[in-house]
Amino acid sequence: MDYDVIIVGAGPGGIFSAYELMQKSPDLRVAVFELGAPLERRKCPIDGKKVKSCIKCKTCSIMSGFGGAGAFSDGKYNITNQFGGTLYEYIGKQQALELMRYVDDINLSHGGAGTKLYSTANTAIKKKCCENDLHLLDAQVRHLGTDINYIVLENLYNALKSQVTFFFRTEIVNVEQLDGGGFSVTTAAEEQYTCTNCIVSVGRSGSKWMERVCGQLGIRTLSNRVDIGVRVELPAVVFSHLTDELYESKIVYRTKQFEDLVRTFCMNPHGVVVNENTNGIVTVNGHSYEDESLHTDNTNFALLVSKHFSEPFRDSNGYGESIARLSNMLGGGVIVQRFGDLIRGRRSNAQRIAESYVVPTLAATPGDLSLVIPKRILDGIIEMIYALDKIAPGTANDDTLLYGVEVKFYNMEVELDTNLETTAKGLYVIGDGSGVTHSLSHASASGVYVARRIAEKLLTKPQ
Ligand SMILES: Cc1cc2nc3c(=O)[nH]c(=O)nc-3n(C[C@H](O)[C@H](O)[C@H](O)COP(=O)(O)OP(=O)(O)OC[C@H]3O[C@@H](n4cnc5c(N)ncnc54)[C@H](O)[C@@H]3O)c2cc1C
Repeated sequence: MDYDVIIVGAGPGGIFSAYELMQKSPDLRVAVFELGAPLERRKCPIDGKKVKSCIKCKTCSIMSGFGGAGAFSDGKYNITNQFGGTLYEYIGKQQALELMRYVDDINLSHGGAGTKLYSTANTAIKKKCCENDLHLLDAQVRHLGTDINYIVLENLYNALKSQVTFFFRTEIVNVEQLDGGGFSVTTAAEEQYTCTNCIVSVGRSGSKWMERVCGQLGIRTLSNRVDIGVRVELPAVVFSHLTDELYESKIVYRTKQFEDLVRTFCMNPHGVVVNENTNGIVTVNGHSYEDESLHTDNTNFALLVSKHFSEPFRDSNGYGESIARLSNMLGGGVIVQRFGDLIRGRRSNAQRIAESYVVPTLAATPGDLSLVIPKRILDGIIEMIYALDKIAPGTANDDTLLYGVEVKFYNMEVELDTNLETTAKGLYVIGDGSGVTHSLSHASASGVYVARRIAEKLLTKPQ
Protein backbone atom coordinates (compact mmCIF):
# COMPACT_ATOMS: atom_id res chain seq x y z
CA MET A 1 0.00 0.00 0.00
CA ASP A 2 1.18 3.56 -0.73
CA TYR A 3 -0.28 4.90 2.52
CA ASP A 4 -1.70 3.62 5.80
CA VAL A 5 -4.41 6.28 5.63
CA ILE A 6 -5.64 8.44 2.75
CA ILE A 7 -7.83 11.40 3.66
CA VAL A 8 -10.00 12.94 0.94
CA GLY A 9 -10.69 16.61 1.71
CA ALA A 10 -8.70 19.12 3.81
CA GLY A 11 -11.58 20.79 5.62
CA PRO A 12 -11.81 20.73 9.41
CA GLY A 13 -12.80 17.03 9.36
CA GLY A 14 -9.77 16.04 7.26
CA ILE A 15 -7.36 18.35 9.10
CA PHE A 16 -8.31 17.11 12.55
CA SER A 17 -8.16 13.47 11.51
CA ALA A 18 -4.63 14.04 10.12
CA TYR A 19 -3.66 15.94 13.28
CA GLU A 20 -4.90 13.22 15.61
CA LEU A 21 -3.35 10.40 13.58
CA MET A 22 0.01 12.18 13.95
CA GLN A 23 -0.52 12.56 17.70
CA LYS A 24 -1.42 8.92 18.21
CA SER A 25 0.98 7.35 15.75
CA PRO A 26 3.54 9.69 14.12
CA ASP A 27 5.02 6.87 12.00
CA LEU A 28 1.84 6.29 10.04
CA ARG A 29 2.04 7.16 6.34
CA VAL A 30 -0.80 9.61 5.82
CA ALA A 31 -1.76 11.51 2.64
CA VAL A 32 -4.40 14.23 2.24
CA PHE A 33 -5.92 14.91 -1.20
CA GLU A 34 -7.60 18.26 -1.61
CA LEU A 35 -9.47 19.59 -4.63
CA GLY A 36 -8.69 23.22 -3.78
CA ALA A 37 -5.54 25.25 -3.22
CA PRO A 38 -3.18 25.59 -0.23
CA LEU A 39 -4.45 28.16 2.31
CA GLU A 40 -2.27 31.07 1.13
CA ARG A 41 -3.33 30.50 -2.50
CA ARG A 42 -7.05 30.60 -1.79
CA LYS A 43 -8.38 33.82 -3.23
CA CYS A 44 -11.94 34.71 -4.18
CA PRO A 45 -11.74 37.00 -7.29
CA ILE A 46 -14.48 39.32 -5.96
CA ASP A 47 -12.63 42.55 -5.08
CA GLY A 48 -15.60 44.92 -5.05
CA LYS A 49 -14.07 46.92 -7.93
CA LYS A 50 -13.26 44.96 -11.11
CA VAL A 51 -15.13 41.86 -10.00
CA LYS A 52 -18.22 42.82 -8.03
CA SER A 53 -20.07 39.53 -7.83
CA CYS A 54 -19.50 35.80 -8.10
CA ILE A 55 -18.04 34.70 -11.45
CA LYS A 56 -18.65 31.01 -10.66
CA CYS A 57 -15.06 29.74 -10.63
CA LYS A 58 -14.66 26.04 -11.42
CA THR A 59 -13.25 25.46 -7.93
CA CYS A 60 -14.66 27.94 -5.42
CA SER A 61 -11.91 29.37 -3.20
CA ILE A 62 -14.42 30.09 -0.46
CA MET A 63 -15.57 26.45 -0.24
CA SER A 64 -12.43 24.52 -1.24
CA GLY A 65 -8.79 24.34 -0.28
CA PHE A 66 -6.89 23.83 2.99
CA GLY A 67 -9.37 24.71 5.75
CA GLY A 68 -12.39 23.66 3.66
CA ALA A 69 -15.61 25.65 3.75
CA GLY A 70 -14.63 26.94 7.17
CA ALA A 71 -11.40 28.73 6.19
CA PHE A 72 -12.89 32.21 5.72
CA SER A 73 -15.78 31.57 8.07
CA ASP A 74 -16.43 33.41 11.24
CA GLY A 75 -14.73 30.57 13.10
CA LYS A 76 -17.52 29.97 15.59
CA TYR A 77 -16.92 26.66 17.28
CA ASN A 78 -20.16 25.72 19.08
CA ILE A 79 -19.62 23.24 21.89
CA THR A 80 -23.04 21.65 22.15
CA ASN A 81 -25.12 18.65 21.14
CA GLN A 82 -28.20 20.83 20.58
CA PHE A 83 -27.23 21.89 17.05
CA GLY A 84 -24.43 21.56 14.53
CA GLY A 85 -24.99 17.87 13.86
CA THR A 86 -26.00 14.55 15.33
CA LEU A 87 -22.55 13.11 16.08
CA TYR A 88 -23.78 12.23 19.60
CA GLU A 89 -26.20 9.70 18.11
CA TYR A 90 -23.17 7.64 17.02
CA ILE A 91 -20.64 8.22 19.80
CA GLY A 92 -22.70 9.38 22.79
CA LYS A 93 -23.33 12.88 24.17
CA GLN A 94 -20.52 12.86 26.71
CA GLN A 95 -17.84 11.78 24.26
CA ALA A 96 -19.07 14.21 21.59
CA LEU A 97 -18.73 17.12 24.04
CA GLU A 98 -15.29 15.92 25.21
CA LEU A 99 -14.05 15.80 21.62
CA MET A 100 -15.40 19.29 20.88
CA ARG A 101 -13.54 20.59 23.96
CA TYR A 102 -10.40 18.77 22.80
CA VAL A 103 -10.69 20.49 19.39
CA ASP A 104 -11.12 23.80 21.20
CA ASP A 105 -7.89 23.16 23.18
CA ILE A 106 -5.99 22.44 19.94
CA ASN A 107 -7.32 25.63 18.36
CA LEU A 108 -6.24 27.60 21.43
CA SER A 109 -2.74 26.13 21.37
CA HIS A 110 -2.39 26.95 17.66
CA GLY A 111 -3.09 30.68 17.79
CA GLY A 112 -6.60 30.89 19.24
CA ALA A 113 -5.54 31.72 22.83
CA GLY A 114 -7.17 34.89 24.11
CA THR A 115 -10.34 34.52 22.04
CA LYS A 116 -13.62 34.63 23.92
CA LEU A 117 -15.79 31.66 24.97
CA TYR A 118 -19.45 32.67 25.31
CA SER A 119 -22.15 30.68 27.10
CA THR A 120 -25.97 30.74 27.09
CA ALA A 121 -26.29 29.03 30.49
CA ASN A 122 -28.58 30.77 33.02
CA THR A 123 -28.83 34.06 31.21
CA ALA A 124 -31.60 36.63 31.66
CA ILE A 125 -31.97 36.52 27.87
CA LYS A 126 -33.10 32.90 28.09
CA LYS A 127 -35.98 33.98 30.38
CA LYS A 128 -36.92 36.88 28.12
CA CYS A 129 -37.01 34.53 25.13
CA CYS A 130 -39.29 32.07 26.97
CA GLU A 131 -41.67 34.89 27.94
CA ASN A 132 -42.07 35.66 24.24
CA ASP A 133 -42.48 32.11 22.93
CA LEU A 134 -38.90 32.03 21.67
CA HIS A 135 -36.48 29.31 22.72
CA LEU A 136 -32.76 29.91 23.23
CA LEU A 137 -30.68 26.76 22.72
CA ASP A 138 -27.88 25.91 25.17
CA ALA A 139 -24.29 26.18 23.93
CA GLN A 140 -20.81 27.40 24.59
CA VAL A 141 -19.41 29.31 21.61
CA ARG A 142 -15.73 29.93 20.93
CA HIS A 143 -15.51 32.84 18.53
CA LEU A 144 -12.17 32.77 16.74
CA GLY A 145 -13.18 35.34 14.13
CA THR A 146 -12.23 35.11 10.46
CA ASP A 147 -8.74 36.51 11.06
CA ILE A 148 -7.72 34.27 14.01
CA ASN A 149 -9.37 31.25 12.37
CA TYR A 150 -6.98 31.80 9.45
CA ILE A 151 -3.96 31.95 11.75
CA VAL A 152 -5.02 28.73 13.51
CA LEU A 153 -5.30 26.99 10.13
CA GLU A 154 -1.87 28.31 9.09
CA ASN A 155 -0.35 26.95 12.31
CA LEU A 156 -2.08 23.58 11.95
CA TYR A 157 -0.75 23.27 8.41
CA ASN A 158 2.78 24.10 9.58
CA ALA A 159 2.47 21.48 12.31
CA LEU A 160 1.35 18.82 9.82
CA LYS A 161 3.28 19.48 6.63
CA SER A 162 6.49 17.67 7.59
CA GLN A 163 4.65 14.49 8.60
CA VAL A 164 1.67 14.33 6.26
CA THR A 165 1.84 14.34 2.44
CA PHE A 166 -0.52 16.95 0.99
CA PHE A 167 -1.75 16.86 -2.61
CA PHE A 168 -3.44 20.19 -3.41
CA ARG A 169 -5.51 20.97 -6.51
CA THR A 170 -5.97 17.21 -6.75
CA GLU A 171 -9.51 15.99 -7.12
CA ILE A 172 -10.25 12.41 -6.25
CA VAL A 173 -12.72 11.11 -8.79
CA ASN A 174 -13.09 7.53 -7.62
CA VAL A 175 -12.66 5.36 -4.57
CA GLU A 176 -12.50 1.61 -5.16
CA GLN A 177 -12.36 -1.26 -2.70
CA LEU A 178 -9.46 -3.63 -3.41
CA ASP A 179 -9.82 -7.40 -3.36
CA GLY A 180 -8.16 -8.58 -0.17
CA GLY A 181 -8.70 -5.27 1.66
CA GLY A 182 -7.77 -1.64 1.34
CA PHE A 183 -8.73 1.04 -1.14
CA SER A 184 -7.49 2.67 -4.28
CA VAL A 185 -8.23 6.32 -5.01
CA THR A 186 -8.00 7.77 -8.52
CA THR A 187 -7.26 11.43 -9.18
CA ALA A 188 -8.68 13.52 -12.02
CA ALA A 189 -5.25 13.14 -13.71
CA GLU A 190 -5.84 9.35 -13.56
CA GLU A 191 -3.13 8.68 -10.99
CA GLN A 192 -3.87 5.92 -8.50
CA TYR A 193 -2.86 5.66 -4.85
CA THR A 194 -3.62 2.80 -2.49
CA CYS A 195 -4.23 2.74 1.26
CA THR A 196 -5.30 0.43 4.04
CA ASN A 197 -7.84 2.90 5.45
CA CYS A 198 -9.59 5.77 3.75
CA ILE A 199 -11.25 8.74 5.46
CA VAL A 200 -13.65 10.69 3.28
CA SER A 201 -14.32 14.26 4.43
CA VAL A 202 -15.59 16.06 1.34
CA GLY A 203 -18.01 18.45 3.02
CA ARG A 204 -21.09 19.99 1.52
CA SER A 205 -19.38 20.85 -1.76
CA GLY A 206 -18.70 17.13 -2.22
CA SER A 207 -22.29 16.05 -1.61
CA LYS A 208 -23.03 14.89 -5.16
CA TRP A 209 -19.66 13.16 -5.39
CA MET A 210 -20.35 11.40 -2.08
CA GLU A 211 -23.69 10.12 -3.28
CA ARG A 212 -22.13 8.70 -6.44
CA VAL A 213 -19.26 7.00 -4.60
CA CYS A 214 -21.68 5.48 -2.07
CA GLY A 215 -23.78 4.17 -4.98
CA GLN A 216 -20.70 2.56 -6.58
CA LEU A 217 -19.62 0.94 -3.31
CA GLY A 218 -23.12 -0.23 -2.41
CA ILE A 219 -23.30 1.98 0.70
CA ARG A 220 -26.82 3.07 1.59
CA THR A 221 -27.71 6.76 1.88
CA LEU A 222 -30.80 8.29 3.42
CA SER A 223 -32.69 11.26 2.07
CA ASN A 224 -32.23 14.33 4.21
CA ARG A 225 -33.45 17.89 4.59
CA VAL A 226 -32.82 21.38 3.30
CA ASP A 227 -33.07 24.70 5.18
CA ILE A 228 -34.35 27.73 3.29
CA GLY A 229 -34.55 31.33 4.40
CA VAL A 230 -33.05 34.78 4.34
CA ARG A 231 -30.12 36.63 5.89
CA VAL A 232 -31.26 39.52 8.06
CA GLU A 233 -29.05 42.62 8.39
CA LEU A 234 -29.80 45.38 10.87
CA PRO A 235 -28.00 47.96 13.01
CA ALA A 236 -25.71 46.18 15.47
CA VAL A 237 -27.26 48.10 18.41
CA VAL A 238 -30.59 46.32 17.91
CA PHE A 239 -29.06 42.97 18.88
CA SER A 240 -26.16 44.23 21.02
CA HIS A 241 -27.72 43.10 24.35
CA LEU A 242 -27.74 39.53 22.94
CA THR A 243 -24.50 39.54 20.99
CA ASP A 244 -22.42 41.28 23.70
CA GLU A 245 -23.35 38.57 26.17
CA LEU A 246 -23.77 35.47 23.98
CA TYR A 247 -22.13 36.43 20.70
CA GLU A 248 -24.22 33.83 18.85
CA SER A 249 -27.76 33.08 19.99
CA LYS A 250 -29.58 30.15 18.43
CA ILE A 251 -33.24 30.97 18.92
CA VAL A 252 -36.11 28.76 17.75
CA TYR A 253 -39.71 29.86 17.15
CA ARG A 254 -42.77 27.72 16.32
CA THR A 255 -45.03 29.63 13.92
CA LYS A 256 -48.68 30.09 14.86
CA GLN A 257 -49.88 29.68 11.27
CA PHE A 258 -48.27 26.36 10.25
CA GLU A 259 -46.45 25.24 13.44
CA ASP A 260 -43.20 25.25 11.43
CA LEU A 261 -39.92 25.81 13.26
CA VAL A 262 -37.97 28.91 12.26
CA ARG A 263 -34.53 29.42 13.76
CA THR A 264 -31.75 31.97 13.86
CA PHE A 265 -28.48 30.74 12.41
CA CYS A 266 -24.90 32.02 12.06
CA MET A 267 -25.08 35.38 13.85
CA ASN A 268 -22.35 37.86 12.96
CA PRO A 269 -22.18 40.94 15.21
CA HIS A 270 -20.61 43.89 13.36
CA GLY A 271 -20.13 41.53 10.42
CA VAL A 272 -20.57 41.47 6.66
CA VAL A 273 -22.96 39.63 4.38
CA VAL A 274 -21.22 37.57 1.66
CA ASN A 275 -22.02 35.51 -1.42
CA GLU A 276 -21.57 31.76 -1.35
CA ASN A 277 -21.24 29.64 -4.47
CA THR A 278 -22.35 26.02 -4.15
CA ASN A 279 -22.08 24.06 -7.38
CA GLY A 280 -22.53 27.26 -9.42
CA ILE A 281 -25.55 28.52 -7.47
CA VAL A 282 -25.09 31.80 -5.61
CA THR A 283 -26.62 32.02 -2.16
CA VAL A 284 -25.95 34.28 0.80
CA ASN A 285 -23.96 33.81 4.01
CA GLY A 286 -22.20 36.04 6.53
CA HIS A 287 -19.13 36.40 8.70
CA SER A 288 -17.39 38.84 11.01
CA TYR A 289 -13.90 39.65 12.16
CA GLU A 290 -12.37 39.48 15.64
CA ASP A 291 -10.26 42.54 14.69
CA GLU A 292 -12.33 45.59 15.69
CA SER A 293 -10.86 47.71 12.90
CA LEU A 294 -12.76 45.48 10.44
CA HIS A 295 -16.09 45.77 12.27
CA THR A 296 -19.14 47.23 10.48
CA ASP A 297 -22.14 49.00 12.05
CA ASN A 298 -24.39 46.05 11.23
CA THR A 299 -25.18 42.62 12.62
CA ASN A 300 -26.39 39.83 10.36
CA PHE A 301 -27.93 36.42 10.95
CA ALA A 302 -29.97 33.91 8.99
CA LEU A 303 -33.59 32.95 9.61
CA LEU A 304 -34.10 29.43 8.33
CA VAL A 305 -37.01 27.02 7.97
CA SER A 306 -36.23 23.28 7.65
CA LYS A 307 -38.02 21.30 4.96
CA HIS A 308 -38.09 17.52 5.41
CA PHE A 309 -39.50 15.56 2.49
CA SER A 310 -41.15 12.16 2.50
CA GLU A 311 -41.53 9.55 -0.27
CA PRO A 312 -41.55 9.67 -3.22
CA PHE A 313 -39.48 12.92 -3.26
CA ARG A 314 -35.81 12.38 -2.36
CA ASP A 315 -34.02 15.38 -3.80
CA SER A 316 -34.25 17.91 -0.94
CA ASN A 317 -31.06 19.69 -2.12
CA GLY A 318 -32.53 19.93 -5.63
CA TYR A 319 -35.56 21.70 -4.14
CA GLY A 320 -33.32 24.22 -2.34
CA GLU A 321 -31.21 24.69 -5.48
CA SER A 322 -34.30 25.45 -7.58
CA ILE A 323 -35.34 28.21 -5.19
CA ALA A 324 -31.82 29.66 -5.15
CA ARG A 325 -31.70 29.41 -8.95
CA LEU A 326 -34.92 31.44 -9.11
CA SER A 327 -33.32 34.25 -7.10
CA ASN A 328 -30.21 34.02 -9.34
CA MET A 329 -32.49 34.23 -12.40
CA LEU A 330 -34.36 37.33 -11.15
CA GLY A 331 -31.45 39.11 -9.50
CA GLY A 332 -28.38 37.72 -11.29
CA GLY A 333 -27.32 36.52 -7.84
CA VAL A 334 -28.53 37.40 -4.36
CA ILE A 335 -31.61 39.66 -3.94
CA VAL A 336 -31.93 42.26 -1.16
CA GLN A 337 -35.22 43.70 0.08
CA ARG A 338 -36.18 46.09 2.89
CA PHE A 339 -38.54 44.46 5.42
CA GLY A 340 -40.92 47.44 4.97
CA ASP A 341 -41.07 46.85 1.21
CA LEU A 342 -41.75 43.14 1.69
CA ILE A 343 -44.64 43.87 4.07
CA ARG A 344 -46.10 46.45 1.67
CA GLY A 345 -45.95 43.95 -1.19
CA ARG A 346 -43.54 45.95 -3.34
CA ARG A 347 -40.03 45.33 -4.58
CA SER A 348 -37.07 47.24 -3.23
CA ASN A 349 -35.30 49.28 -5.85
CA ALA A 350 -31.91 50.99 -5.89
CA GLN A 351 -33.39 54.26 -4.61
CA ARG A 352 -35.21 52.68 -1.66
CA ILE A 353 -32.06 50.79 -0.66
CA ALA A 354 -29.98 53.98 -1.01
CA GLU A 355 -32.43 55.87 1.25
CA SER A 356 -32.44 53.06 3.85
CA TYR A 357 -30.86 53.83 7.23
CA VAL A 358 -29.25 50.37 7.17
CA VAL A 359 -26.34 50.43 4.71
CA PRO A 360 -26.00 47.02 3.02
CA THR A 361 -22.62 45.33 3.42
CA LEU A 362 -23.18 43.19 0.30
CA ALA A 363 -23.83 44.62 -3.17
CA ALA A 364 -26.93 42.54 -3.92
CA THR A 365 -29.71 43.27 -6.43
CA PRO A 366 -32.73 45.09 -4.94
CA GLY A 367 -35.82 42.99 -5.64
CA ASP A 368 -38.84 41.16 -4.29
CA LEU A 369 -38.24 38.04 -2.21
CA SER A 370 -41.93 37.10 -2.30
CA LEU A 371 -41.41 36.15 -5.98
CA VAL A 372 -38.75 33.67 -4.94
CA ILE A 373 -39.42 32.15 -1.53
CA PRO A 374 -42.46 29.83 -1.10
CA LYS A 375 -45.32 31.50 0.80
CA ARG A 376 -45.28 29.09 3.74
CA ILE A 377 -41.57 29.70 4.36
CA LEU A 378 -41.80 33.47 3.88
CA ASP A 379 -44.84 33.73 6.20
CA GLY A 380 -42.87 31.86 8.87
CA ILE A 381 -39.91 34.23 8.50
CA ILE A 382 -42.14 37.30 8.77
CA GLU A 383 -43.82 35.87 11.91
CA MET A 384 -40.41 35.23 13.48
CA ILE A 385 -39.20 38.77 12.69
CA TYR A 386 -42.18 40.13 14.64
CA ALA A 387 -41.48 37.65 17.48
CA LEU A 388 -37.80 38.73 17.61
CA ASP A 389 -38.94 42.35 17.67
CA LYS A 390 -40.31 41.68 21.19
CA ILE A 391 -36.89 40.69 22.57
CA ALA A 392 -34.86 42.97 20.29
CA PRO A 393 -37.07 45.97 19.43
CA GLY A 394 -36.14 47.33 16.02
CA THR A 395 -35.86 43.94 14.34
CA ALA A 396 -39.13 44.57 12.48
CA ASN A 397 -38.16 48.10 11.39
CA ASP A 398 -38.88 49.00 7.76
CA ASP A 399 -35.18 49.37 6.96
CA THR A 400 -34.14 45.92 8.19
CA LEU A 401 -32.58 44.26 5.17
CA LEU A 402 -33.41 40.74 4.02
CA TYR A 403 -31.07 38.98 1.60
CA GLY A 404 -32.21 35.91 -0.23
CA VAL A 405 -31.89 33.25 -0.51
CA GLU A 406 -29.91 31.59 2.18
CA VAL A 407 -30.00 27.86 1.65
CA LYS A 408 -28.37 25.37 3.94
CA PHE A 409 -27.83 22.21 1.97
CA TYR A 410 -27.45 18.98 3.87
CA ASN A 411 -25.77 15.94 2.53
CA MET A 412 -27.50 12.64 2.20
CA GLU A 413 -26.90 10.74 5.43
CA VAL A 414 -24.42 7.96 4.77
CA GLU A 415 -25.12 4.66 6.55
CA LEU A 416 -22.40 4.41 9.22
CA ASP A 417 -21.75 2.31 12.31
CA THR A 418 -20.68 3.67 15.69
CA ASN A 419 -17.06 3.94 14.44
CA LEU A 420 -18.33 6.18 11.57
CA GLU A 421 -17.23 3.32 9.32
CA THR A 422 -19.21 2.29 6.24
CA THR A 423 -20.19 -1.24 5.24
CA ALA A 424 -17.02 -1.14 3.07
CA LYS A 425 -14.71 -1.93 6.01
CA GLY A 426 -11.80 0.50 6.30
CA LEU A 427 -13.75 3.33 4.64
CA TYR A 428 -14.80 6.05 7.10
CA VAL A 429 -16.99 9.03 6.26
CA ILE A 430 -16.80 12.09 8.50
CA GLY A 431 -17.75 15.77 8.66
CA ASP A 432 -20.51 17.43 6.67
CA GLY A 433 -20.03 14.98 3.79
CA SER A 434 -21.43 12.22 5.98
CA GLY A 435 -24.66 14.11 6.66
CA VAL A 436 -23.91 13.59 10.37
CA THR A 437 -22.32 16.99 11.07
CA HIS A 438 -23.14 20.54 9.94
CA SER A 439 -20.57 22.61 11.77
CA LEU A 440 -16.88 23.27 12.40
CA SER A 441 -16.84 21.75 15.88
CA HIS A 442 -18.79 18.59 15.03
CA ALA A 443 -16.87 18.02 11.76
CA SER A 444 -13.53 18.47 13.58
CA ALA A 445 -14.63 16.21 16.46
CA SER A 446 -15.67 13.49 14.00
CA GLY A 447 -12.17 13.68 12.49
CA VAL A 448 -10.49 13.20 15.87
CA TYR A 449 -12.84 10.33 16.71
CA VAL A 450 -12.16 8.38 13.51
CA ALA A 451 -8.40 8.99 13.73
CA ARG A 452 -8.42 7.43 17.20
CA ARG A 453 -10.42 4.41 15.97
CA ILE A 454 -7.97 3.87 13.09
CA ALA A 455 -4.86 4.39 15.25
CA GLU A 456 -6.21 1.87 17.80
CA LYS A 457 -6.92 -0.63 15.05
CA LEU A 458 -3.52 -0.26 13.37
CA LEU A 459 -1.58 -0.29 16.65
CA THR A 460 -3.28 -3.46 17.91
CA LYS A 461 -3.05 -5.30 14.55
CA PRO A 462 -0.83 -8.43 14.85
CA GLN A 463 2.41 -7.94 12.83
C1 LIG B 1 -19.15 31.23 4.64
C2 LIG B 1 -19.29 30.09 5.64
C3 LIG B 1 -19.31 30.39 7.00
C4 LIG B 1 -19.43 29.36 7.95
N1 LIG B 1 -19.36 29.68 9.27
C5 LIG B 1 -19.39 28.70 10.19
C6 LIG B 1 -19.23 28.98 11.58
O1 LIG B 1 -18.96 30.12 11.98
N2 LIG B 1 -19.35 27.96 12.48
C7 LIG B 1 -19.60 26.67 12.06
O2 LIG B 1 -19.69 25.80 12.94
N3 LIG B 1 -19.72 26.36 10.76
C8 LIG B 1 -19.62 27.33 9.81
N4 LIG B 1 -19.73 27.01 8.49
C9 LIG B 1 -19.87 25.59 8.13
C10 LIG B 1 -18.50 24.90 8.27
O3 LIG B 1 -17.55 25.59 7.48
C11 LIG B 1 -18.63 23.43 7.86
O4 LIG B 1 -19.57 22.81 8.70
C12 LIG B 1 -17.28 22.70 7.98
O5 LIG B 1 -16.30 23.34 7.21
C13 LIG B 1 -17.41 21.24 7.57
O6 LIG B 1 -16.15 20.66 7.57
P1 LIG B 1 -15.82 19.41 6.62
O7 LIG B 1 -14.40 19.07 6.82
O8 LIG B 1 -16.83 18.36 6.85
O9 LIG B 1 -16.09 19.91 5.12
P2 LIG B 1 -15.52 21.15 4.30
O10 LIG B 1 -15.03 22.20 5.20
O11 LIG B 1 -16.54 21.47 3.29
O12 LIG B 1 -14.23 20.54 3.56
C14 LIG B 1 -14.34 19.58 2.56
C15 LIG B 1 -13.12 19.71 1.64
O13 LIG B 1 -13.13 18.58 0.76
C16 LIG B 1 -12.70 19.01 -0.53
N5 LIG B 1 -13.22 18.08 -1.53
C17 LIG B 1 -14.52 17.90 -1.89
N6 LIG B 1 -14.60 16.94 -2.82
C18 LIG B 1 -13.34 16.51 -3.06
C19 LIG B 1 -12.79 15.55 -3.95
N7 LIG B 1 -13.55 14.81 -4.75
N8 LIG B 1 -11.45 15.38 -3.96
C20 LIG B 1 -10.64 16.11 -3.13
N9 LIG B 1 -11.12 17.06 -2.27
C21 LIG B 1 -12.46 17.24 -2.24
C22 LIG B 1 -13.28 20.42 -0.66
O14 LIG B 1 -12.54 21.15 -1.61
C23 LIG B 1 -13.15 20.95 0.76
O15 LIG B 1 -11.97 21.69 0.93
C24 LIG B 1 -19.59 28.01 7.51
C25 LIG B 1 -19.60 27.71 6.14
C26 LIG B 1 -19.44 28.72 5.20
C27 LIG B 1 -19.43 28.38 3.74
